[in-house]
Amino acid sequence: MISTFDLFKIGIGPSSSHTVGPMVAARRFRDTVLARGGVARISAEIYGSLAWTGRGHGTDVAILLGLLGHAPATIDPDRTAPLADELRRTGDLGIPGVHFDTERDLVFNFKDILPLHTNGMRFRAYDAAGDAVEDQIFYSVGGGFVVTAAEAEAASAGEAGQEPPLAFGSGRELLDLTLRTGLTIPQIQLANELTLRSRADIDAGLDAVRDAMFACIERGLRMDGELPGGLRVRRRAKRLYESLEATKLANSRPAHEIMDWISLYALAVNEENASGGRVVTAPTNGAAGIVPAVLRYTRDFCPDWNDERGRDFLLTAAAIGGLIKARASISGAEVGCQGEVGSAAAMAAAGLTAALGGSAFQIENAAEIAMEHHLGMTCDPIAGLVQVPCIERNAFGANKAVVAASLSLRGDGQHRVSLDEVIETMRQTGHDMQAKYKETSLGGLAVNVAAC
Ligand code: SF4
Repeated sequence: MISTFDLFKIGIGPSSSHTVGPMVAARRFRDTVLARGGVARISAEIYGSLAWTGRGHGTDVAILLGLLGHAPATIDPDRTAPLADELRRTGDLGIPGVHFDTERDLVFNFKDILPLHTNGMRFRAYDAAGDAVEDQIFYSVGGGFVVTAAEAEAASAGEAGQEPPLAFGSGRELLDLTLRTGLTIPQIQLANELTLRSRADIDAGLDAVRDAMFACIERGLRMDGELPGGLRVRRRAKRLYESLEATKLANSRPAHEIMDWISLYALAVNEENASGGRVVTAPTNGAAGIVPAVLRYTRDFCPDWNDERGRDFLLTAAAIGGLIKARASISGAEVGCQGEVGSAAAMAAAGLTAALGGSAFQIENAAEIAMEHHLGMTCDPIAGLVQVPCIERNAFGANKAVVAASLSLRGDGQHRVSLDEVIETMRQTGHDMQAKYKETSLGGLAVNVAAC
C-alpha cells in the first residue's frame, strides 16, 4: 500500500528524487555506520541521472546533509548551504574517527549506471586499514522514495507488503470497490490509511500537509529576485500577485483571469522549490506546485470549502497517485515529465472533482483526462536546475487539472479511454523514451537554450 503520507511528504526543494531521496539514503547509511562503529572513512558515489543533473538539483548538498544526520522534513531550508559549506571546510560529520573529505569522498560517476534504476547511490565505509566494512546501494525512485537494492529486487519480484482492507490495484478495481461497498474514493483511501495510523493522526497529518502547501504558496508570493543556480531566472509570483490584487476590484475583468490565479499559486510553490525552500512532494518536488495550486483554487474560488473537503481532496489525489506509482512511475528519470507533472495533474483533477462532489466515475474520468493530455512530455531541465521548463509547466499542469475536472463534472463519468489504459500508455511511452529526455539534461530544451 502506498500511503497518502508517502506521496505527500513535507521536505525541501528542489527535487524529491535528487534532493529528498539522497538525503534520506545518506542519513540511513549514517545510522548504519553509527550503529556499527569502528569506521575511519566514508565514501558516497552517485550514478546516472543523479550524477548528470545532481549539481543543479543539489544532490551533493543533500548527501552531505544526510551524512550529517539531517532529515528533509525537519531541516531549516535557510541552513542547508551553511551546513554543507561547514562540512566541506571541516570534514566533521560528528561520527567519531571519521574525517569526510568532500573532494575525495563524494564522487559523481558519469560513466556507470547501477543495474536497477538510473538514480543510484553507493555508500561505503572503511576501517582504519582501508578495508570496506559496509557497502550499501540505494535507489531514489521518485517522489522522495528510497529503496535498497534488496528492497528494489523484492518489489520487482512482486513480494507483497501489508495488505490494506480495501486494496485496489487498478482504476477498475477502485471503481468496483466503490460499487461493492458504497464508499467514496476518499473513504476507501481513508479506510486503508486507518491500518497505519489513527483517525485523529490522519486528520492532523492531512491538515499539516495542507498547511505546509499553503505556507509555501504564501512565502512564494512574498519573495522576489533571482533564483539560485546561475540561470538568472527571475521570480514572477510576487509581481503577478501584485498585479492581480491591483485589478481585483475593477469592473471589467476577463473571465480567464481565474487562470492567472491558478498559475500564480503554482509559480509561487515552484519558485520556492527551485530556491530550496520548504515544499511538499505532490507526488514529486518538480511537480510540487500543481496539487497545492488546485487545492488553493478550491478553497478560494469554489463553493462550500471546509476542512473535510480539503481532506477528501488530498485522500482522493493520493489514491490516484498511488495507482500511477504502482502501475507506472512518478519519476522523471524513469518516464519523463509525463510521470511527474502528468501524475500531479491527474491527482489534482481527481482531488478537485471529489471536493466538488463528483462521483467515483467522474473522479476516474478527471484523472484520466488530465493524464492523457500530458502523455509524451519529456524531462529536459536547463542546466539541470528545476526551473525551466519546470516552474511554468506546473502552472499549465494546474490549469489542465481544473479543465479536466470541469469537463468530467459536466459529464456522467462514462468515457472511452480508461484511467488504467492511459496509465499503461504513460508507462510504455516512458519506457520507449530516449534516455536523453529523462532527467539527464542531455536533450530537449537543456541543449537548445543557452544556460548562461
Ligand atoms: S522537466 Fe518535469 S520531470 Fe523534469 S525536472 Fe522539471 S518538473 Fe521534473
